Amino acid sequence: MTPPSWLDAFPARLAELDPGHLRRQRHVVTPGSGARLNVDGQAMLAFCSNDYLGLATHPALVQAACDGARAYGVGSGGSPLVSGHSAANASLEQALATFVGLERALYFYAGYAANIGIIPALVGAGDAVFSDALNHACLIDGARLSRARIHRYAHADLAALDSQLSQSSAPRKLVITDAVFSMDGDSADIAGLLALCERHDALLLLDDAHGFGVLGPQGRGSLAAAGFHAVQASRRVLYMATLGKAAGVAGAFVAGPGVLVEWLLQKTRSYIFATAAPALLATALRASLQLIEHENWRRIHLEVLIARLRSGLSAGLQGSGWQLSDSKTAIQPLLIGRNDVALAAMEGLRQRGIWVPAIRPPTVPEGTARLRIALSAAHTEGDVDLLIDALTALARASCRHRADELFS
Ligand SMILES: *Cc1c(COP(=O)(O)O)cnc(C)c1O
Repeated sequence: MTPPSWLDAFPARLAELDPGHLRRQRHVVTPGSGARLNVDGQAMLAFCSNDYLGLATHPALVQAACDGARAYGVGSGGSPLVSGHSAANASLEQALATFVGLERALYFYAGYAANIGIIPALVGAGDAVFSDALNHACLIDGARLSRARIHRYAHADLAALDSQLSQSSAPRKLVITDAVFSMDGDSADIAGLLALCERHDALLLLDDAHGFGVLGPQGRGSLAAAGFHAVQASRRVLYMATLGKAAGVAGAFVAGPGVLVEWLLQKTRSYIFATAAPALLATALRASLQLIEHENWRRIHLEVLIARLRSGLSAGLQGSGWQLSDSKTAIQPLLIGRNDVALAAMEGLRQRGIWVPAIRPPTVPEGTARLRIALSAAHTEGDVDLLIDALTALARASCRHRADELFS
Protein backbone atom coordinates (compact mmCIF):
# COMPACT_ATOMS: atom_id res chain seq x y z
CA MET A 1 0.00 0.00 0.00
CA THR A 2 1.30 3.49 -0.82
CA PRO A 3 1.55 5.75 2.24
CA PRO A 4 -0.75 8.81 2.31
CA SER A 5 0.69 11.91 0.74
CA TRP A 6 -0.06 15.61 1.16
CA LEU A 7 -0.43 15.68 -2.61
CA ASP A 8 -3.70 13.71 -2.25
CA ALA A 9 -5.29 16.65 -0.43
CA PHE A 10 -5.31 19.11 -3.34
CA PRO A 11 -8.74 18.17 -4.76
CA ALA A 12 -10.33 18.69 -1.33
CA ARG A 13 -8.40 21.91 -0.76
CA LEU A 14 -9.60 23.25 -4.12
CA ALA A 15 -13.18 22.24 -3.29
CA GLU A 16 -12.95 24.27 -0.06
CA LEU A 17 -12.68 27.42 -2.16
CA ASP A 18 -16.12 26.98 -3.67
CA PRO A 19 -18.57 27.60 -0.81
CA GLY A 20 -17.20 31.14 -0.21
CA HIS A 21 -17.11 31.89 -3.96
CA LEU A 22 -13.32 32.17 -3.65
CA ARG A 23 -12.30 30.06 -6.61
CA ARG A 24 -10.94 32.37 -9.29
CA GLN A 25 -11.79 31.93 -12.91
CA ARG A 26 -10.13 33.31 -15.97
CA HIS A 27 -12.05 34.54 -18.99
CA VAL A 28 -10.67 34.19 -22.47
CA VAL A 29 -10.69 37.62 -24.09
CA THR A 30 -9.93 39.05 -27.49
CA PRO A 31 -10.09 42.77 -28.26
CA GLY A 32 -13.11 44.17 -30.09
CA SER A 33 -13.55 47.74 -31.31
CA GLY A 34 -13.11 50.67 -28.92
CA ALA A 35 -13.53 49.56 -25.34
CA ARG A 36 -15.30 46.36 -26.39
CA LEU A 37 -13.94 42.93 -25.61
CA ASN A 38 -14.95 39.49 -26.69
CA VAL A 39 -15.26 37.62 -23.42
CA ASP A 40 -15.62 33.85 -23.69
CA GLY A 41 -17.04 34.43 -27.16
CA GLN A 42 -19.54 37.12 -26.15
CA ALA A 43 -19.14 40.80 -27.15
CA MET A 44 -19.02 42.99 -24.02
CA LEU A 45 -18.62 46.67 -23.28
CA ALA A 46 -15.75 46.50 -20.78
CA PHE A 47 -15.03 48.80 -17.84
CA CYS A 48 -12.31 46.65 -16.35
CA SER A 49 -9.12 47.44 -18.24
CA ASN A 50 -6.18 49.47 -16.95
CA ASP A 51 -5.51 50.58 -20.53
CA TYR A 52 -6.55 54.08 -19.42
CA LEU A 53 -5.52 55.90 -22.58
CA GLY A 54 -6.70 53.28 -25.06
CA LEU A 55 -3.17 52.65 -26.36
CA ALA A 56 -2.91 48.85 -26.01
CA THR A 57 -4.22 48.22 -29.53
CA HIS A 58 -2.99 51.46 -31.14
CA PRO A 59 -1.63 50.90 -34.69
CA ALA A 60 1.48 53.02 -34.03
CA LEU A 61 2.43 50.79 -31.09
CA VAL A 62 1.72 47.62 -33.05
CA GLN A 63 3.86 48.93 -35.91
CA ALA A 64 6.69 49.86 -33.53
CA ALA A 65 6.58 46.39 -31.96
CA CYS A 66 6.81 44.80 -35.42
CA ASP A 67 9.73 47.08 -36.33
CA GLY A 68 11.42 46.13 -33.07
CA ALA A 69 10.93 42.42 -33.78
CA ARG A 70 12.44 42.83 -37.24
CA ALA A 71 15.46 44.69 -35.87
CA TYR A 72 16.07 42.64 -32.71
CA GLY A 73 14.17 39.38 -33.00
CA VAL A 74 11.63 38.50 -30.34
CA GLY A 75 13.81 37.42 -27.41
CA SER A 76 16.48 39.34 -25.51
CA GLY A 77 18.57 36.23 -24.84
CA GLY A 78 19.85 37.12 -21.40
CA SER A 79 19.86 39.11 -18.21
CA PRO A 80 20.42 42.84 -18.68
CA LEU A 81 23.73 42.38 -16.86
CA VAL A 82 24.95 39.81 -19.35
CA SER A 83 23.74 40.28 -22.92
CA GLY A 84 20.06 41.27 -22.68
CA HIS A 85 20.42 45.06 -22.45
CA SER A 86 19.54 46.03 -26.04
CA ALA A 87 20.10 49.46 -27.56
CA ALA A 88 16.29 49.76 -27.60
CA ASN A 89 16.05 49.07 -23.86
CA ALA A 90 18.90 51.52 -23.16
CA SER A 91 17.29 54.33 -25.09
CA LEU A 92 13.91 53.59 -23.50
CA GLU A 93 15.48 54.08 -20.05
CA GLN A 94 16.85 57.45 -21.18
CA ALA A 95 13.49 58.50 -22.56
CA LEU A 96 11.64 57.42 -19.39
CA ALA A 97 14.03 59.30 -17.09
CA THR A 98 13.71 62.45 -19.19
CA PHE A 99 9.92 62.10 -19.36
CA VAL A 100 9.46 61.94 -15.58
CA GLY A 101 12.20 64.50 -14.95
CA LEU A 102 14.48 62.26 -12.90
CA GLU A 103 18.16 61.50 -13.30
CA ARG A 104 18.16 57.86 -14.32
CA ALA A 105 15.71 55.00 -14.91
CA LEU A 106 15.89 51.21 -14.85
CA TYR A 107 13.47 49.21 -17.05
CA PHE A 108 11.96 45.98 -15.66
CA TYR A 109 9.92 43.28 -17.43
CA ALA A 110 7.10 43.61 -14.85
CA GLY A 111 5.95 45.88 -12.05
CA TYR A 112 5.54 42.97 -9.67
CA ALA A 113 9.14 41.94 -10.26
CA ALA A 114 10.32 45.52 -9.81
CA ASN A 115 8.74 45.99 -6.38
CA ILE A 116 9.64 42.61 -4.93
CA GLY A 117 13.24 43.25 -5.97
CA ILE A 118 13.71 46.95 -5.22
CA ILE A 119 12.63 46.87 -1.58
CA PRO A 120 15.05 44.08 -0.48
CA ALA A 121 17.83 45.86 -2.40
CA LEU A 122 17.27 48.99 -0.32
CA VAL A 123 16.60 47.65 3.18
CA GLY A 124 17.23 44.45 5.13
CA ALA A 125 17.15 42.90 8.60
CA GLY A 126 17.39 45.63 11.25
CA ASP A 127 15.91 48.28 8.93
CA ALA A 128 12.30 49.51 8.82
CA VAL A 129 9.63 49.71 6.13
CA PHE A 130 6.54 51.90 6.59
CA SER A 131 3.65 50.76 4.44
CA ASP A 132 0.20 52.23 3.74
CA ALA A 133 -2.53 49.76 4.75
CA LEU A 134 -4.03 49.77 1.24
CA ASN A 135 -0.80 49.17 -0.67
CA HIS A 136 -0.65 46.83 -3.66
CA ALA A 137 0.29 43.20 -2.96
CA CYS A 138 3.71 43.48 -4.62
CA LEU A 139 4.81 46.28 -2.29
CA ILE A 140 3.72 44.10 0.64
CA ASP A 141 5.55 41.08 -0.75
CA GLY A 142 8.69 43.13 -1.40
CA ALA A 143 8.63 44.39 2.18
CA ARG A 144 8.28 40.82 3.50
CA LEU A 145 11.13 39.58 1.33
CA SER A 146 13.41 42.33 2.64
CA ARG A 147 13.24 40.99 6.22
CA ALA A 148 13.08 44.58 7.45
CA ARG A 149 10.58 45.32 10.23
CA ILE A 150 7.23 46.29 8.67
CA HIS A 151 5.17 49.13 10.17
CA ARG A 152 1.73 49.30 8.58
CA TYR A 153 0.06 52.69 8.93
CA ALA A 154 -3.67 53.38 8.51
CA HIS A 155 -4.53 54.36 4.95
CA ALA A 156 -3.29 57.89 4.15
CA ASP A 157 -2.82 58.66 7.86
CA LEU A 158 0.29 60.86 7.82
CA ALA A 159 0.02 61.63 11.54
CA ALA A 160 0.26 57.90 12.28
CA LEU A 161 3.18 57.57 9.89
CA ASP A 162 4.90 60.53 11.52
CA SER A 163 4.68 58.94 14.95
CA GLN A 164 5.85 55.54 13.69
CA LEU A 165 8.83 57.19 12.01
CA SER A 166 9.63 59.14 15.20
CA GLN A 167 9.58 56.00 17.31
CA SER A 168 11.76 53.93 15.01
CA SER A 169 15.49 53.81 15.63
CA ALA A 170 16.19 51.74 12.49
CA PRO A 171 19.28 52.94 10.62
CA ARG A 172 17.45 52.85 7.26
CA LYS A 173 13.80 53.83 6.90
CA LEU A 174 11.81 53.25 3.74
CA VAL A 175 8.26 54.52 3.19
CA ILE A 176 6.34 52.63 0.49
CA THR A 177 3.02 53.66 -1.01
CA ASP A 178 0.79 53.47 -4.04
CA ALA A 179 0.56 56.96 -5.56
CA VAL A 180 -2.98 56.16 -6.81
CA PHE A 181 -4.64 53.37 -4.82
CA SER A 182 -5.69 50.59 -7.14
CA MET A 183 -9.02 49.59 -5.52
CA ASP A 184 -10.12 53.07 -4.38
CA GLY A 185 -8.76 55.48 -6.97
CA ASP A 186 -7.66 58.06 -4.39
CA SER A 187 -4.19 59.64 -4.40
CA ALA A 188 -1.42 59.70 -1.81
CA ASP A 189 -0.35 63.09 -0.39
CA ILE A 190 3.07 63.14 -2.01
CA ALA A 191 4.18 66.52 -0.69
CA GLY A 192 3.19 65.48 2.84
CA LEU A 193 4.99 62.13 2.52
CA LEU A 194 8.15 63.75 1.19
CA ALA A 195 8.18 66.29 4.02
CA LEU A 196 7.99 63.44 6.55
CA CYS A 197 10.76 61.55 4.76
CA GLU A 198 12.92 64.67 4.86
CA ARG A 199 12.27 65.17 8.57
CA HIS A 200 12.98 61.54 9.52
CA ASP A 201 15.83 60.74 7.11
CA ALA A 202 13.64 58.24 5.24
CA LEU A 203 13.41 57.33 1.55
CA LEU A 204 10.06 57.29 -0.29
CA LEU A 205 9.24 54.58 -2.84
CA LEU A 206 6.24 55.69 -4.85
CA ASP A 207 4.33 53.14 -6.97
CA ASP A 208 2.56 55.13 -9.70
CA ALA A 209 1.11 52.19 -11.64
CA HIS A 210 -2.21 54.04 -12.02
CA GLY A 211 -0.94 57.61 -12.40
CA PHE A 212 1.81 57.33 -15.01
CA GLY A 213 0.55 58.52 -18.40
CA VAL A 214 -2.69 59.80 -16.92
CA LEU A 215 -1.87 62.38 -14.25
CA GLY A 216 0.32 65.49 -14.34
CA PRO A 217 1.34 67.66 -17.28
CA GLN A 218 1.60 65.53 -20.48
CA GLY A 219 0.86 62.48 -18.32
CA ARG A 220 4.23 62.65 -16.58
CA GLY A 221 2.70 61.03 -13.50
CA SER A 222 1.80 61.67 -9.88
CA LEU A 223 5.16 63.11 -8.86
CA ALA A 224 4.96 65.74 -11.60
CA ALA A 225 1.28 66.33 -10.74
CA ALA A 226 2.35 67.10 -7.16
CA GLY A 227 4.80 69.69 -8.45
CA PHE A 228 7.97 67.62 -8.13
CA HIS A 229 9.52 67.64 -11.53
CA ALA A 230 13.09 67.87 -12.84
CA VAL A 231 15.09 70.24 -10.63
CA GLN A 232 12.62 70.17 -7.73
CA ALA A 233 12.79 66.38 -7.44
CA SER A 234 13.98 65.36 -4.03
CA ARG A 235 16.87 62.95 -3.59
CA ARG A 236 14.53 61.14 -1.18
CA VAL A 237 12.19 59.69 -3.77
CA LEU A 238 12.30 56.65 -6.00
CA TYR A 239 9.53 56.79 -8.57
CA MET A 240 8.27 53.45 -9.84
CA ALA A 241 5.60 53.06 -12.52
CA THR A 242 4.27 50.22 -14.63
CA LEU A 243 4.10 50.23 -18.42
CA GLY A 244 1.29 47.72 -18.94
CA LYS A 245 -1.49 50.10 -17.84
CA ALA A 246 -1.83 53.58 -19.37
CA ALA A 247 1.31 53.00 -21.48
CA GLY A 248 -0.50 50.06 -23.07
CA VAL A 249 2.44 47.63 -23.35
CA ALA A 250 4.17 45.74 -20.49
CA GLY A 251 6.91 46.16 -17.93
CA ALA A 252 7.82 48.83 -15.42
CA PHE A 253 10.57 51.21 -14.47
CA VAL A 254 12.07 52.80 -11.42
CA ALA A 255 13.60 56.26 -11.66
CA GLY A 256 15.42 58.55 -9.28
CA PRO A 257 18.83 59.87 -8.31
CA GLY A 258 21.63 58.27 -10.36
CA VAL A 259 23.39 56.84 -7.33
CA LEU A 260 20.26 55.05 -6.08
CA VAL A 261 19.46 53.66 -9.50
CA GLU A 262 23.05 52.45 -9.85
CA TRP A 263 22.67 50.70 -6.47
CA LEU A 264 19.45 49.04 -7.65
CA LEU A 265 21.17 47.89 -10.83
CA GLN A 266 23.87 46.23 -8.69
CA LYS A 267 21.61 44.71 -6.03
CA THR A 268 18.08 43.99 -7.31
CA ARG A 269 17.86 40.21 -7.63
CA SER A 270 14.67 40.24 -9.72
CA TYR A 271 16.54 42.45 -12.20
CA ILE A 272 19.87 40.64 -12.21
CA PHE A 273 18.63 37.05 -12.31
CA ALA A 274 15.92 37.43 -14.95
CA THR A 275 15.95 37.65 -18.71
CA ALA A 276 15.64 41.22 -19.96
CA ALA A 277 12.38 42.32 -21.58
CA PRO A 278 12.41 41.83 -25.36
CA ALA A 279 13.46 44.90 -27.34
CA LEU A 280 10.19 44.90 -29.30
CA LEU A 281 8.43 46.01 -26.11
CA ALA A 282 10.87 48.88 -25.72
CA THR A 283 10.30 50.04 -29.30
CA ALA A 284 6.53 49.84 -28.73
CA LEU A 285 6.99 51.81 -25.50
CA ARG A 286 8.92 54.57 -27.28
CA ALA A 287 5.93 54.96 -29.61
CA SER A 288 3.61 54.93 -26.60
CA LEU A 289 5.62 57.67 -24.85
CA GLN A 290 5.27 59.86 -27.95
CA LEU A 291 1.48 59.53 -27.86
CA ILE A 292 1.31 59.97 -24.08
CA GLU A 293 3.30 63.18 -24.35
CA HIS A 294 1.64 64.70 -27.39
CA GLU A 295 -1.97 63.49 -27.42
CA ASN A 296 -3.40 65.51 -24.60
CA TRP A 297 -6.89 64.91 -25.97
CA ARG A 298 -6.81 61.41 -24.49
CA ARG A 299 -6.50 62.76 -20.95
CA ILE A 300 -9.04 65.52 -21.64
CA HIS A 301 -11.54 63.00 -22.99
CA LEU A 302 -10.95 60.78 -19.93
CA GLU A 303 -11.67 63.76 -17.64
CA VAL A 304 -14.95 64.35 -19.50
CA LEU A 305 -15.93 60.68 -19.05
CA ILE A 306 -15.04 60.71 -15.34
CA ALA A 307 -17.19 63.81 -14.75
CA ARG A 308 -20.05 62.35 -16.81
CA LEU A 309 -20.03 59.06 -14.90
CA ARG A 310 -19.88 60.78 -11.53
CA SER A 311 -22.73 63.20 -12.17
CA GLY A 312 -24.86 60.56 -13.93
CA LEU A 313 -24.45 58.03 -11.14
CA SER A 314 -24.85 60.43 -8.24
CA ALA A 315 -28.24 61.37 -9.72
CA GLY A 316 -29.21 57.81 -10.71
CA LEU A 317 -28.17 56.11 -7.47
CA GLN A 318 -29.70 58.56 -5.03
CA GLY A 319 -31.25 56.71 -2.10
CA SER A 320 -29.99 53.32 -3.30
CA GLY A 321 -27.23 52.94 -0.73
CA TRP A 322 -24.77 52.34 -3.56
CA GLN A 323 -22.15 55.03 -3.57
CA LEU A 324 -19.27 56.17 -5.72
CA SER A 325 -16.10 56.55 -3.71
CA ASP A 326 -14.30 59.85 -3.57
CA SER A 327 -12.01 59.38 -6.56
CA LYS A 328 -10.90 61.86 -9.21
CA THR A 329 -9.05 59.26 -11.30
CA ALA A 330 -10.07 56.76 -13.98
CA ILE A 331 -10.64 54.21 -11.18
CA GLN A 332 -14.22 54.85 -10.03
CA PRO A 333 -15.25 52.22 -7.48
CA LEU A 334 -18.94 51.88 -6.73
CA LEU A 335 -19.27 50.80 -3.10
CA ILE A 336 -22.07 48.30 -2.61
CA GLY A 337 -21.23 46.61 0.69
CA ARG A 338 -22.51 43.03 0.65
CA ASN A 339 -20.59 40.43 -1.35
CA ASP A 340 -23.72 38.78 -2.75
CA VAL A 341 -25.24 42.10 -3.84
CA ALA A 342 -21.98 43.15 -5.54
CA LEU A 343 -21.85 39.80 -7.36
CA ALA A 344 -25.51 40.13 -8.38
CA ALA A 345 -24.80 43.62 -9.73
CA MET A 346 -21.87 42.30 -11.75
CA GLU A 347 -24.08 39.53 -13.12
CA GLY A 348 -26.90 41.99 -13.92
CA LEU A 349 -24.46 44.12 -15.90
CA ARG A 350 -23.09 41.04 -17.64
CA GLN A 351 -26.59 40.13 -18.83
CA ARG A 352 -26.78 43.62 -20.35
CA GLY A 353 -23.48 43.08 -22.17
CA ILE A 354 -21.41 45.19 -19.77
CA TRP A 355 -18.38 43.89 -17.92
CA VAL A 356 -17.39 45.45 -14.59
CA PRO A 357 -15.55 43.29 -12.05
CA ALA A 358 -16.90 42.88 -8.50
CA ILE A 359 -14.11 43.15 -5.94
CA ARG A 360 -14.62 41.39 -2.63
CA PRO A 361 -12.70 40.81 0.60
CA PRO A 362 -9.88 40.01 1.16
CA THR A 363 -8.84 42.26 -1.75
CA VAL A 364 -10.86 45.05 -0.07
CA PRO A 365 -11.95 45.42 3.60
CA GLU A 366 -14.91 43.37 4.90
CA GLY A 367 -18.30 44.96 4.12
CA THR A 368 -16.94 47.12 1.28
CA ALA A 369 -17.52 44.87 -1.72
CA ARG A 370 -17.62 47.03 -4.80
CA LEU A 371 -17.76 47.26 -8.54
CA ARG A 372 -14.41 48.56 -9.75
CA ILE A 373 -15.30 50.70 -12.73
CA ALA A 374 -12.27 51.64 -14.82
CA LEU A 375 -12.69 54.30 -17.48
CA SER A 376 -10.52 54.67 -20.55
CA ALA A 377 -10.05 57.18 -23.33
CA ALA A 378 -11.25 54.32 -25.55
CA HIS A 379 -14.78 54.75 -24.12
CA THR A 380 -17.29 57.08 -25.75
CA GLU A 381 -19.77 59.24 -23.85
CA GLY A 382 -22.43 56.87 -25.17
CA ASP A 383 -20.60 53.93 -23.54
CA VAL A 384 -20.63 55.73 -20.20
CA ASP A 385 -24.34 56.51 -20.58
CA LEU A 386 -25.07 52.81 -21.15
CA LEU A 387 -23.27 52.01 -17.89
CA ILE A 388 -25.10 54.75 -15.97
CA ASP A 389 -28.50 53.53 -17.23
CA ALA A 390 -27.74 49.90 -16.45
CA LEU A 391 -26.48 50.65 -12.93
CA THR A 392 -29.42 52.93 -12.19
CA ALA A 393 -31.85 50.17 -13.20
CA LEU A 394 -29.98 47.56 -11.16
CA ALA A 395 -29.79 49.76 -8.06
CA ARG A 396 -33.56 50.40 -8.22
CA ALA A 397 -34.24 46.68 -8.60
CA SER A 398 -31.93 45.92 -5.69
CA CYS A 399 -33.74 48.49 -3.50
CA ARG A 400 -37.12 46.98 -4.37
CA HIS A 401 -35.76 43.51 -3.65
CA ARG A 402 -34.49 44.58 -0.22
CA ALA A 403 -37.82 46.26 0.54
CA ASP A 404 -39.61 43.04 -0.41
CA GLU A 405 -37.32 41.09 1.92
CA LEU A 406 -38.13 43.57 4.70
CA PHE A 407 -41.90 43.58 4.32
CA SER A 408 -42.62 40.01 3.31
C1 LIG B 1 -0.48 46.42 -11.61
C2 LIG B 1 0.30 46.91 -10.44
C3 LIG B 1 1.59 46.44 -10.20
C4 LIG B 1 2.20 45.29 -10.96
O1 LIG B 1 2.64 45.68 -12.21
P1 LIG B 1 2.76 44.57 -13.37
O2 LIG B 1 3.55 45.25 -14.41
O3 LIG B 1 1.38 44.24 -13.76
O4 LIG B 1 3.49 43.39 -12.77
C5 LIG B 1 2.30 47.06 -9.21
N1 LIG B 1 1.76 48.02 -8.43
C6 LIG B 1 0.50 48.44 -8.60
C7 LIG B 1 -0.04 49.51 -7.70
C8 LIG B 1 -0.28 47.90 -9.61
O5 LIG B 1 -1.53 48.29 -9.76
